[in-house]
Amino acid sequence: MGMFSMRSGELIVCDQCDFLLRKNLIDMRGSSSCSRCGHVLFRTHPLGLHRCLIFLITAVVLFVIANIFPIVTISSDGLTNSSTLLEAVYRLFQDGIPSIALLVFLTAFLMPALQIFSLTYLLLPLKFGRIPLRFGPIFRLVHLVKTWAMLEVFMLGLIVTITKLNAFATVSPDIGLISFILLMISITAASANFDKHSFWKEVDAIKLRGQR
Ligand SMILES: [Zn+2]
Repeated sequence: MGMFSMRSGELIVCDQCDFLLRKNLIDMRGSSSCSRCGHVLFRTHPLGLHRCLIFLITAVVLFVIANIFPIVTISSDGLTNSSTLLEAVYRLFQDGIPSIALLVFLTAFLMPALQIFSLTYLLLPLKFGRIPLRFGPIFRLVHLVKTWAMLEVFMLGLIVTITKLNAFATVSPDIGLISFILLMISITAASANFDKHSFWKEVDAIKLRGQR
């Protein structure tokens, strides 16, 4: 019984020459290249998941700071008002720009929250030698969210928001906003370090240990 017996029938396609390779014939350690054209199919980074988890912990801390502290301070007519992200979203909603409010909410709150949650759900149990419960849907969520949570969209939403708010007040950035930018960088780094091959390898290694 090999380590990858569970998915032994799975095939992998070389995206360079379309050659079909049986996954159990591929060495899962280190890098694997196509036996026909030599194209590198994937590389597993032994420390990738570990790095991913470190960026995730950083992201959790930043997410909390970013949502507790105000992102902007708005001054108009001698009045100063600081808003957190969710307050700013609510204000935008009330001021008649619901589409931008929704965009900011999705890209700056919901997507980062989902990304942090799903990756932590997958990786934290592994750290303790356990396989996350029913991880299938969460695993798919990671890929779904990855395609939708775009840093550029968030940045665009942010610029539009500040510009719109600036039209009727003076807006200056706050601690929350800086935390948000750092949060986006941490999440991008975490998801870049999440290697699904390393994840499967780890899951199989835990299963194997459990069978002994
Ligand atoms: Zn090939």
